[in-house]
Amino acid sequence: MKRIVALLIVCFMVNLSVTAATTTTTAGYTVQSTKLYGRALQTSPVLKTLPTNTPVQYAVYNRSWSNVYIGSTRYFTPSTNLKAGIPKLSSTERLRLVNKQYGLSKTYRSSQLVPLTIPTVYQKGSERTLMAAEAAHALARLYYDGRKQGHTLYALSAYRSYSTQQSIYTYWVNTRGTTYASLYVARPGHSEHQTGLAVDMTSQRMQMGLAASFDQTPEGKWMLANAHQYGFIVRYPKGKEAITGYNYEPWHLRYVGVNEATTMRQQNWTFEEWWAKR
Ligand SMILES: [Zn+2]
Repeated sequence: MKRIVALLIVCFMVNLSVTAATTTTTAGYTVQSTKLYGRALQTSPVLKTLPTNTPVQYAVYNRSWSNVYIGSTRYFTPSTNLKAGIPKLSSTERLRLVNKQYGLSKTYRSSQLVPLTIPTVYQKGSERTLMAAEAAHALARLYYDGRKQGHTLYALSAYRSYSTQQSIYTYWVNTRGTTYASLYVARPGHSEHQTGLAVDMTSQRMQMGLAASFDQTPEGKWMLANAHQYGFIVRYPKGKEAITGYNYEPWHLRYVGVNEATTMRQQNWTFEEWWAKR
């Protein structure tokens, strides 16, 4: 089991490095405003300046300098300006409320989308297997802990772009009518999936589909009881339909961070109620 985990982590690193295939780069972010130089010399010209906390791909060049890759261009920067690790979401992005009232622009796309490392129903490469890095890592921890206890979960749909949501919404309006569509499917720009922080989970027992009976399965029960420990909330709970505007969806998780998810669970608050009371 440990070997499989290690292998998946390696695969993940490879996925993150696609922008600079010839060098092994690390995903990180600038911990302060970072000047990018043409050479590993403080006296060489500054070609670019990156703001604090910008996600980058980098590789250590020598003891004190690192290479930063922007697309396929290589720059030099003092290593002290960079920090290894997964880019953190800003609290604004992590706690963005998206619902029937509050939407996202047509062009909104998180800059931190990475491929999920856990088993997915859609083939890797589909946008639906992408998630913001911080949430993707939290989901991987949830997945591996669940599997250790005998519960194997699969990610069905994570990120969805505005245009994907538009096709889904149009399809359901055309086949089932507006009333049905409005209870189950978000209008384009109003889907949490566009944030890169939401994911629909399923299992083999559910035949990789989505149904409320997921909460009766061992996998679903485990996920519902433990998701908050990894920073996820069950976004559309039973009995809160009037507040969320959606029917009960035990499969839909939304990443908000461990502290917030724990508070919402302890208080039995939806995200809307947490926003109103914070
Ligand atoms: Zn969903």
